[in-house]
Amino acid sequence: MSKLKNEKLDGIVFVLSAPSGAGKTSLCRHVAASLDHVYASISMTTRASRPHEEEGKDYFFVSKEDFQIHQNQARFVEWTQIYDHFYGTPLDPIVHCLRQGRDVICALDHVGLQKLKAHSRLGKAVVSLFIVPPHQDALKLRLEQRGQDSPESISRRLAASALEMKQWIYYDYVVLNDDFLVAASEVIAVIRAEKLKSAHQCGRIAKIVEEWR
Ligand code: ADP
Repeated sequence: MSKLKNEKLDGIVFVLSAPSGAGKTSLCRHVAASLDHVYASISMTTRASRPHEEEGKDYFFVSKEDFQIHQNQARFVEWTQIYDHFYGTPLDPIVHCLRQGRDVICALDHVGLQKLKAHSRLGKAVVSLFIVPPHQDALKLRLEQRGQDSPESISRRLAASALEMKQWIYYDYVVLNDDFLVAASEVIAVIRAEKLKSAHQCGRIAKIVEEWR
């Protein structure tokens, strides 16, 4: 960890937050599939995999014992417990990408974002985006059509969304996810603009300027 503190990491972590069902996971995957240099972070969980979920694509599925080992070794950027299950964002793959100058995209809630920002050197290179669904009814429909949650779970998620939606003002960027491809192109535009900031081009541009005669 102390090595990480003194190390220069070139990449950026892009964090997407939104109420459940707004489309953040779909956007993360689409963007990572569209931009070679972007890695979509995969969470680790102790919950059982659902039909159609793949190990290493949707989640890393682990036992509670293995999860605890990761916790004890400070190998999560952030972790949380939801009912009986634990979820965590593994640190190693993120650091590995940032060291290579690659970027990372991940879906986190507001608390997870704060923990990421507070995390030693990672916090310096975090850009946050809030994803807004076009309407409450659209959110309900997306949760129903996703087909992953019981009616009770959907009701809980919708109830929680009222408070979650109020947090948009704390984010660097806000993207309306009405038409999916428009929203995805806006997230990509944010990534491209952030990469063009002078602070992220030091090495490349300094080299050109150095050789200028
Ligand atoms: P989250 O990760 O925010 O909980 P998901 O990415 O799982 O949300 O998306 C929830 C559901 O909504 C998925 O079935 C997804 O295919 C769908 N979806 C995402 N964006 C849109 C959109 N712009 N229009 C219609 N459906 C969408």
